[in-house]
Amino acid sequence: MSLHWSTIQAILQGQPIPPVPAADILISHLCTDSRAVAADGYSLFVALRTPQRDGHTYLMHAYAQGIRHFVVATDAGAQLPPDAHVVPVPHTLTALHQLAIAVRQLFAGPVIGITGSNGKTIVKEWLHQVLSPDYSICRSPRSYNSQVGVPLSVWQLQPQHGLALFEAGISTMGEMEPLQRIIQPTWGIFVTLGAAHDEGFPSRARKLLEKWKLFEGCSKVFCRIDDAMVHAQATTSGVLLVSWGFAPEAQYRLLHMDLQGHTTVVTLLHKQVELKFVIPFTDEASVENALHVAIVGLEMQVALDTLQQRLLTLHALTMRLEWVKGLHHSLLLNDSYSYDLTSLQIALHHLRQQAGHQPMMAILSDLPAQDTAQAYEEVAGLLVQHHIRVLAGIGPNMLTYSHLFAARGIAVHPFASTHDFLLRFHRQLLAHTTVLIKGGRAFGFEKIVQQLQQLQHQTVLELHLTALAHNLNVYRSRLQASTGIMVMLKAFGYGSTDAELGRWLQHRGVQYLAVAYADEGVALRQGGVHLPIMVMNPDPDSFAQMVAHRLEPELYSFEVLQAFEEFATAHGLTAYPVHLKLDTGMHRLGFVPEQLAALTEKMTTAQALRVMTVFTHLVAAEAPEQDAFTQAQASAFEACTQALAQALPYPFLRHAANTAAIARHPHLHYDMVRLGIGLFGVANAADSNLNLQPVSRLYTTVAQVKQVAAGQSVGYGRKALLQRPSTIATVRIGYADGYRRQLGNGVGFMYLNGHQAPVLGNVCMDMTMLDVTDLPPVQPGDRVEVFGEHISVNDLARLCHTIPYEIMTGISRRVKRVLVEE
Ligand SMILES: *Cc1c(COP(=O)(O)O)cnc(C)c1O
Repeated sequence: MSLHWSTIQAILQGQPIPPVPAADILISHLCTDSRAVAADGYSLFVALRTPQRDGHTYLMHAYAQGIRHFVVATDAGAQLPPDAHVVPVPHTLTALHQLAIAVRQLFAGPVIGITGSNGKTIVKEWLHQVLSPDYSICRSPRSYNSQVGVPLSVWQLQPQHGLALFEAGISTMGEMEPLQRIIQPTWGIFVTLGAAHDEGFPSRARKLLEKWKLFEGCSKVFCRIDDAMVHAQATTSGVLLVSWGFAPEAQYRLLHMDLQGHTTVVTLLHKQVELKFVIPFTDEASVENALHVAIVGLEMQVALDTLQQRLLTLHALTMRLEWVKGLHHSLLLNDSYSYDLTSLQIALHHLRQQAGHQPMMAILSDLPAQDTAQAYEEVAGLLVQHHIRVLAGIGPNMLTYSHLFAARGIAVHPFASTHDFLLRFHRQLLAHTTVLIKGGRAFGFEKIVQQLQQLQHQTVLELHLTALAHNLNVYRSRLQASTGIMVMLKAFGYGSTDAELGRWLQHRGVQYLAVAYADEGVALRQGGVHLPIMVMNPDPDSFAQMVAHRLEPELYSFEVLQAFEEFATAHGLTAYPVHLKLDTGMHRLGFVPEQLAALTEKMTTAQALRVMTVFTHLVAAEAPEQDAFTQAQASAFEACTQALAQALPYPFLRHAANTAAIARHPHLHYDMVRLGIGLFGVANAADSNLNLQPVSRLYTTVAQVKQVAAGQSVGYGRKALLQRPSTIATVRIGYADGYRRQLGNGVGFMYLNGHQAPVLGNVCMDMTMLDVTDLPPVQPGDRVEVFGEHISVNDLARLCHTIPYEIMTGISRRVKRVLVEE
């Protein structure tokens, strides 16, 4: 939508500075992140405050991007150049909501609001697929469903739209009412009620009640009523319900769901008529989501056979953005999400944030269903705005319009087709760049991603950044606002990856990183990480490297201290940041309390060094039976740091708590905590109530499926003698990848096609055999979960008689790492 500056000022009832001029400008873009999108003279920047960041610190950055219109908090004392137009308001988030409400009120068409725990985005996207032949649809981009995402989504409403689909997501009490006021849905859809965000609510029932507030004023609410709690809520809330499910009273009553090959045939009974749908999925969640879409389609009067045809074209959505290492030290951003200008903007924003100062390029196909010069002008404009100077454009329209890109100073390499690109593209162009790969489905860009990535191995360790952000927030919510977080990225982030993760963390309000060895710190720096980094095992041979890369050593003995001080002095360094480790009971590294007097004296005179932090490590923070020992460690630590604080002429930070202590010992957080394994979603039994999400997920694929007769054996040493005719799936992971041999012979299992399959016989070096006799049909290429959503790292560790740390760090380097953002 576009609103005049004078209208905006009237909606917000703020006094603009300076007063609105006669030439009243039309604002067409809203922006809350100065690094983001479409920043120009027609954009309005709303400075939001979140626990992680204050938008007011980015005002000048936004100004430098060309933005001249701002909504700021009255108390922020914002100073902007005289040609900036500013409306000060008491609360900027409320102002954003007010603007969205005003825009919503200008829209007269139907609006479908979607909420629930899982499936909101899929249902929204599929509804869009099914209804877009009949309507011009405005929908939330990706999963923009938060207090900020919803207003930004609603702002996109345009006069030509005939239908809007918005999702609403909440994580705590009181959040739905504002979203309801913005969306004002005419119809509502309630998708599943699950465990997501339970921690933000007094109970599951209260969460449901809160979510249901979205439907205030709806003339119809679609809801599956097989869950007893949802059923009760739906039938007592007084809305006009369109219910479905196995429940006998459902208006669309499910009679059967029959698996047929790779489809599910669903029979519904509605007003005494049997309706049959073929859904192109076999997993329960997708079938449920597709049925929501089918029933909404029916209620929107889509003809039955048309609806059936459209349902068959639904495809599993990869909502995700994937980061993977590419050829020639590049980093590839694979965004296979549906391709339009909005999703391109979002992808470019992610690209730029992750790239830092590294060069960027884009590999883009023709825009689906757009062939006007204007559309390609817009693409070119977006590329320029995001400082992308190199484009490989694929498709007939990209060929036709390549001059438009060239005219904007973009080095454009046009290709007629994906095939042409794969033949002719100079891989050298990728060297050290961050690359966006985004194309319409018809262009088959999977092939491009496959060929440009560094590792081809089908066994993949996925790191789910959405889960990582969730876990970080879980731990952050346990801390006082003034307590910092040091993230432990030793062993390349617990076996995950190196620089990408560090770069990602530095946008998330983390104060410090720590690594075990200097090499790991150097890798982070080379990847563009500028946060302070502590190195826990500084080897004298690595001092020069460390100083060159501003890595800060942990000093744990007089030998290391002496050596580093001499090095620093010899190189003319002053007040070089260092960290002191005290041994209060671990008996691994560290100064013991008896050495404290000597240490204090030494540090007061060491001009070359400056103590940034003093810390100790708790040995059994997770164990209630060791709490007395933990307390003794803390007391010793406090005594020592007090003595140091008295002697040193400057302040330093204190830290002791690892993951387990963050949850269990809030009084031992001190100035900073050291978050390790918990960030990756692996909690021990003591803090299983934190609702962490698994970050590291290991997948492989099926190489071959075989029928083997009873009496035959499988694998080395004939360890598995078959008692029955069996179906065996051989998968592409073995002990050389980190899948341990202890897991052979029925000890371990993997998860595929919705079921667990036990390991048969011995684990081989590169392969493992699974017994899939009892599973729905398995095919070569099927994806197999080794651990992740259905099998936890903890489960696997238990089966191997080890700890999750060892499983995670044991995944070998030949396994491809992919960062996934959903
Ligand atoms: C590994 C480590 C941590 C983090 O431990 P988690 O249990 O993974 O949270 C904290 N401090 C030090 C000194 C460590 O070596």
